[in-house]
Amino acid sequence: YTICFDELEKGDFLGRGQFGTVKKMFHQPTNLTFAVKMVNDTLMESNDSRNSEIMDLAAPLKIGDGCPSLIKFYGAMHAESYIWILTEVMDTSLDRFYAKVFAMGIEMPELFVSKVAYAVTYALDFMRKAKMMHRDIKPSNILLNYTGEIKVCDFGISGFTTNSVCTTFKGCQRYMPPEKIDPYLSGNGYTIRADIWSLGISLIEISTGEHPFKDSNGVLGLIKSIVQNDPPKLDQSKFSPELCDFTDKCLVKIPDNRASCSDLLDHEFIKKYMETPNDLEYIKKVMDEVKKDIVEA
Ligand code: ADP
Ligand code: MG
Repeated sequence: YTICFDELEKGDFLGRGQFGTVKKMFHQPTNLTFAVKMVNDTLMESNDSRNSEIMDLAAPLKIGDGCPSLIKFYGAMHAESYIWILTEVMDTSLDRFYAKVFAMGIEMPELFVSKVAYAVTYALDFMRKAKMMHRDIKPSNILLNYTGEIKVCDFGISGFTTNSVCTTFKGCQRYMPPEKIDPYLSGNGYTIRADIWSLGISLIEISTGEHPFKDSNGVLGLIKSIVQNDPPKLDQSKFSPELCDFTDKCLVKIPDNRASCSDLLDHEFIKKYMETPNDLEYIKKVMDEVKKDIVEA
């Protein structure tokens, strides 16, 4: 089936990022609802090859197909000075979820953190097998819904934005691994292990309610924190040995010594909760509060 941009009915606002807005949109002919990210095409390197106001839903297999922890990616089109990127809709992202948990003064259960760790590691392992990496793992690119599903988004988007501002800006953020700054560390090049570092940072952030480099001063301060200081660590007196060990294994500065996806899938922190489903009552309690903010925004 073919979708034309003018058949999409704009619905609820879902969020705003550095490069565009994400809205829920309904497509009546197929009865499908999408999350549509609209990025101004001036941020894109060249538009000539993408002058398509329509998008084919039956396009060749997309990368996320077959992986339950990757957001379904339907495709992209170019219309009205925007690139429209169509994906599956979720209820919110982890940056908002964890912020709400701590604002409500409640705990972030390790059960939940373990489910996040598992979903992201599973998604990265899937991408690794497809010879891809993510490059932008962070809480706002980890989405969840009321049924407790946790999925990674914004993968493969970098293909649309090569050499654009997006990649330049992305290179300069708080989740980047030491080998991206210090080439001396990256003996085997920049690989999926970079995403594992970002996962470790994200898990510390959602567990403590704070980004571990929140106190770094400017870009130089941040670079110093990442490359020169010891890697961030969870407080052993507040978190289980399994969770502390999981983040320690993600946050090894030399990429070759950092855990691989299979090491992590086999880790005690994942195994500990493997048989326990996510706590849907807890998720609903927090998500209802998150939703209130989005309506007000
Ligand atoms: P960033 O990831 O840097 O926050 P984005 O433009 O990628 O910026 O996304 C903006 C916000 O939109 C996200 O933080 C998230 O809360 C929301 N969002 C993105 N994609 C979806 C989706 N598929 N379903 C629901 N919400 C989404
Ligand atoms: Mg995003």
